[in-house]
Amino acid sequence: MIGGGPGGSVCAAQLARLGRSVVVLERAAFPRFHLGESLLPRSLPVLEEIGVLDAVKARFILKYGARFHDDIHGRKDRFSFDAAWKPAVEHAFQVPRDAFDALLLDHARACGADVRERWSAERVVTDERGRAVGVDAIAADGAARRIDARFVVDASGRDVLTARAAGTTSKIAGLDQTALYAHYEGVPRQGGRLEGDIDIVLFASGAARAAEAAGDAATADSELTRAGERPNWFWFIPFADGRTSVGAVVSRAWMRERRARLGGAGDVATALFEVAVSESPTAAELLAGARCLWPSVEATADFSYRVRETSGDGWLAVGDAGGFIDPLFSTGAHLAMIGGKLAADAIASALDAPDDERQIVGAWEEAVRAGAETFILAVQAFYAGPLVGYLFAEDKHSALRRSITSLLAGDVFGDAVWLRDTRLRLKAMLASAGAHEA
Ligand SMILES: Cc1cc2nc3c(=O)[nH]c(=O)nc-3n(C[C@H](O)[C@H](O)[C@H](O)COP(=O)(O)OP(=O)(O)OC[C@H]3O[C@@H](n4cnc5c(N)ncnc54)[C@H](O)[C@@H]3O)c2cc1C
Repeated sequence: MIGGGPGGSVCAAQLARLGRSVVVLERAAFPRFHLGESLLPRSLPVLEEIGVLDAVKARFILKYGARFHDDIHGRKDRFSFDAAWKPAVEHAFQVPRDAFDALLLDHARACGADVRERWSAERVVTDERGRAVGVDAIAADGAARRIDARFVVDASGRDVLTARAAGTTSKIAGLDQTALYAHYEGVPRQGGRLEGDIDIVLFASGAARAAEAAGDAATADSELTRAGERPNWFWFIPFADGRTSVGAVVSRAWMRERRARLGGAGDVATALFEVAVSESPTAAELLAGARCLWPSVEATADFSYRVRETSGDGWLAVGDAGGFIDPLFSTGAHLAMIGGKLAADAIASALDAPDDERQIVGAWEEAVRAGAETFILAVQAFYAGPLVGYLFAEDKHSALRRSITSLLAGDVFGDAVWLRDTRLRLKAMLASAGAHEA
């Protein structure tokens, strides 16, 4: 296993529980910071199956829903997970990833995996037929080592070890966002069951908002189109210890225009984050009495990509190593954990029936890709515009609203009728906006 994030840890824990011998190579020493702090309800059955759910429940705040605020048109709405098509799991968790990932990796260890921190995988070793047969690594003591394996899992996250070596990554059309983020204390929260909600705040430039406030929707929309900036958004993710993770996700056009206005000197990420806050009345209100806990705001850009092949002879790639989608729906850790668990089951079956490996691993790849592609459609329909309207639709009981709630809960695996219908509707939304799924 290359990497001990959620994808690698869940896969390793499940393989060990199935009686397989697993070595996990993790380059970092845990705990370490990571983005991806808002989880989805449909991950919980996996956490339960590998035996770590109670430990997670004891440490992290429960997330029962997602609140959306639209600072452009002055609307807000909340999606409660208990209104999904299959509401069996009605909450998720908000997790500082240093603590969550350490808990999962320790759990993989407790299940029997041989976890080696500060070991860096350098490349996958193949035999003369091209089958993966192990990994060349640099051990914690700096020595070069080779680990032999009957199967190799790439769970290296956005390092995408195997796809980078093969040149099989590609950008996703319409997704070129940058995230500016930091941790805060003193951000006000709702009470009771709503305390752990994620807040998603859509915002745009002052000019667009002024036009909207004057009742000039056409000018507001053309301002947004001109700036190529629809829609930018903030996340507010509350943690159990009172801290809140805050991030602004903005388009490339927004970055270009605001950066040119600011000039290049000083702490550009923090200055750009402050500009974003000044453009969002809701973010400004939430941060008015808050204090940033970091020396400066961090930035990461252009994070969405697809990977053409996520499996081959003797190997597969889980989580971000197999592709990454814009974080709007908080999907990354969910896809990594579901994909990791299903991968472990597939690998265990393939090791028992080597002649069927291609077919077993191929079925795994197809199932995981179908789930990810549904999220990609939803994210593209959001950035192209049409899905935004449906998020704030008046009819609170429509089938589409239940479908959106189910997507927000992470229910994208399988072949339910509502899921097929939702994919078609998202495709229709994209077509209506003149955008293309790609
Ligand atoms: C701006 C932003 C916001 C996000 N917000 C959310 C969110 O709210 N919710 C959510 O679910 N997801 C979110 N994500 C996505 C989330 O961060 C990832 O999808 C998730 O961490 C994927 O898990 P993983 O196990 O595949 O990879 P990772 O968590 O990245 O773990 C990979 C591990 O592999 C190790 N590694 C890498 N290379 C090597 C090597 N060569 N040898 C050994 N070890 C190696 C790394 O040290 C790392 O620990 C966000 C992402 C971004 C960019």
